[in-house]
Amino acid sequence: MIKRFSRSRLALHPWPKPPGGQHRSVCHFCDTLHVAEPLPEGMAARCQCCRAVLYQNRPASLARATAFSVTALILVVVVHAFPFLTMDAASIRTTLNLVSAATALFDQGYPILGAALALFTIITPVLLASGLIYVCGPLMFGRLAPGAILVAKWLHKTEPWNMIEVFLLGVLVSLLKLEKVADLHFGMGFWAFGLLMVCMAAAVAGIDRDELWDRLEVAKL
Ligand SMILES: [Zn+2]
Repeated sequence: MIKRFSRSRLALHPWPKPPGGQHRSVCHFCDTLHVAEPLPEGMAARCQCCRAVLYQNRPASLARATAFSVTALILVVVVHAFPFLTMDAASIRTTLNLVSAATALFDQGYPILGAALALFTIITPVLLASGLIYVCGPLMFGRLAPGAILVAKWLHKTEPWNMIEVFLLGVLVSLLKLEKVADLHFGMGFWAFGLLMVCMAAAVAGIDRDELWDRLEVAKL
């Protein structure tokens, strides 16, 4: 059965829907099919059966996703340009950053761990932020960048592999144990990494998946 989603009030600025026919949206939790009407800015469409969010129209979504992605790329440079952590133990000072941590794992015979560290904390965030800028930047001006639809498909596939928050949690747990045997000093890279985690989450959450695809469809026409 096709249902209409519920919403509390009307406002302006719905995102452009591709022309032709009624659009539909399926609830990912209970599979109920809804009529996907244009949604005012700041509003969320909820399932009539289970109240789960179907899609949202976030204010200034394209500008928000682009701005947070640009900030994330700048923070990636800061993370690698400054020390992540400095340890003082037995009169020996050791300074680490993410690249040196990954290469140290390779050197100590843990190539899979080293590759995973580089992939999940360096490569994936850079690819995700660059892809969002490439897709959302031109869309702000109603333009479609060459291959933007393909890039958007890959963005959704790589999204689950952006695991910098998992890495940061692991680092914090390790530091609690290291604190007993060494003096630890957090560098600029550590704080930048924390901000990078926030920026990546905000960039990905900046634009709803339905809105991105509708805007790509409209720009293609
Ligand atoms: Zn539902």
